Amino acid sequence: MDLAAKIAEDPRYREACQSCINCGVCTAICPAAVYFPYDPRQIVNEVLEGNEETLRELLSSDTIWYCGQCMSCKPRCPRGNIPGSLIQILRKVSIETGLFSQSTYGRQQIAIKRGIGENILSTGYCVHPTRMEPDQHPEQGPVWEWMVHNASQVYGRFDETFDRVGGSLLRKPGPQTRLELQRIFEVTGGMKLWDQIEAGAEDSTERH
Ligand code: SF4
Ligand code: SF4
Repeated sequence: MDLAAKIAEDPRYREACQSCINCGVCTAICPAAVYFPYDPRQIVNEVLEGNEETLRELLSSDTIWYCGQCMSCKPRCPRGNIPGSLIQILRKVSIETGLFSQSTYGRQQIAIKRGIGENILSTGYCVHPTRMEPDQHPEQGPVWEWMVHNASQVYGRFDETFDRVGGSLLRKPGPQTRLELQRIFEVTGGMKLWDQIEAGAEDSTERH
């Protein structure tokens, strides 16, 4: 598999990564570089060098998942590169090739897809109290747990159409809206990426 070609064929690539003078400004202003072993200068350099083995290691590592997508690097690069956009491409290729399942941070995509992703399709929200499982969030404490178990009572005080089809903020989206959400995920390629995440999840279960 030609990983360098796969990365370069992404339409974002031309804008994200042109030429690099290795000045390190992107790393100097990158907040993720303060907290993680993360160096956007090095990542840009590795992509431009195009060594297949190095790219495979990069796409299989936690490294590409450390970026917080703040885009502080975008206006700073003297060459007009956008390391944050390059990271978007690397994450996509990592999922498409299944390499994401080889790293701990990469495998978090499975939980994000099954949690936030599926929440959006079924409720219209990233996070929804009716889909919370308090057993999985002991850090939230007993008051929060009570709120989850009594969501209708609590949120119903703010919005009478909470979790029901209606016209206000916390309403349940109707079937037509959910269908449109589904179509958006299909035509933008999101659904295909989800299938690839699930395929990677299976591989990862078999390996462990
Ligand atoms: S977008 Fe990512 S690489 Fe760029 S500054 Fe923010 S955290 Fe760093
Ligand atoms: S700021 Fe731009 S030119 Fe400098 S190291 Fe980062 S990507 Fe390369």
